[in-house]
Amino acid sequence: MRIEHLTLFEVSLPLVHSFETSSHRKSGLQHILVRATDGDGRSGWGEIASPSDPYFTSETTGTAWLIANRYLGPAVLGSDWDEPAELETAWARIRGHEFAKAGFSAAAWDLHARSQERSLAAALGGTRSEVVAGVSLGIEPSIDQLLAQVERQVSAGYPRIKLKIAPGWDVEPVRAVRSQHPDLDLHVDANGAYPDTEDAAAVFRQLDEYALTMIEQPFTPRDFPAHARLQRRLETPICLDESVVALADLRTMIETKAGRVLNIKVSRMGGLSAAKRAHDLAMEAGIPVWCGGMHEFGVGRAANVAISSLPNFTLPSDVSGSDKYYERDVIVPPVIAERGRVPVPQGPGIGYDVDTDWVLKNTVRTAELVA
Ligand code: MG
Repeated sequence: MRIEHLTLFEVSLPLVHSFETSSHRKSGLQHILVRATDGDGRSGWGEIASPSDPYFTSETTGTAWLIANRYLGPAVLGSDWDEPAELETAWARIRGHEFAKAGFSAAAWDLHARSQERSLAAALGGTRSEVVAGVSLGIEPSIDQLLAQVERQVSAGYPRIKLKIAPGWDVEPVRAVRSQHPDLDLHVDANGAYPDTEDAAAVFRQLDEYALTMIEQPFTPRDFPAHARLQRRLETPICLDESVVALADLRTMIETKAGRVLNIKVSRMGGLSAAKRAHDLAMEAGIPVWCGGMHEFGVGRAANVAISSLPNFTLPSDVSGSDKYYERDVIVPPVIAERGRVPVPQGPGIGYDVDTDWVLKNTVRTAELVA
């Protein structure tokens, strides 16, 4: 297969509810959509869901635009491939830039699945017909506002709630939510905001009392020894997110026992092929996985739904309905969660149509690349 034509759209959409993590606050997002077209005029879509600022990863929308136009696009246009994973060979010389690569990887997988008239989930080896979705809640201005958000999502049927935490916003919000929802599947995500100190360990030991499903990325990304030491002192499983950007990181996590759960983000791993390999390795090592989100627009969200249908995605994934984030999504129909469950589409490719009118209305800039 050969991709003959690439179109990049930088699209800006406002969020329905602004979102705050330990590092930043956002009220809208700019992602890059990748449309890959073959010689028969068939197209596949992918999304580069890099945040606009370098706080989650070193990439930004701006760096992704540059790398996509100057390096990844030309590499993809020049290659012949049968399986989407082969594209990784085409861009092997390009170090890092996983989010940018993930957009091209997803477009190739969508195109590949469409050319075989299969769903993306089936092409990836998915086995589930629906995916259990959890929601992630940001740092709210007050505990009362957080409790109102939790109530709203629990009433909508989401079975798992994740709370963003940061120093000064940790034990109190968890205690408040837990006291109102004693049986809720609850987990916390620090996005690496804590130093590896005794004071921080004391906070996590307090959190250990609240029957959390996991504590995600407490320390600096890739500080495997610090996570391993903390894991030995906690009952609650530690989940790694930012620490694992390559398969080698996952091997280190397994060998050092730095955590018992893996958050697989397709973007962070550099695409669907890499995410699938991480899924397989984690399954072999007895580490359950779930799919984390980057507040993707529908194109990326649909790919997340597809990969979450693989067998070792046994924990709820961040694939909540589009409406939780966007008034109108870039796909039709939008991703819909019913009582916290999202059906895995059976139609060809990602199983949704891209709403190109809406994409163009919200496009900040475009680029065309031709073989
Ligand atoms: Mg995380």
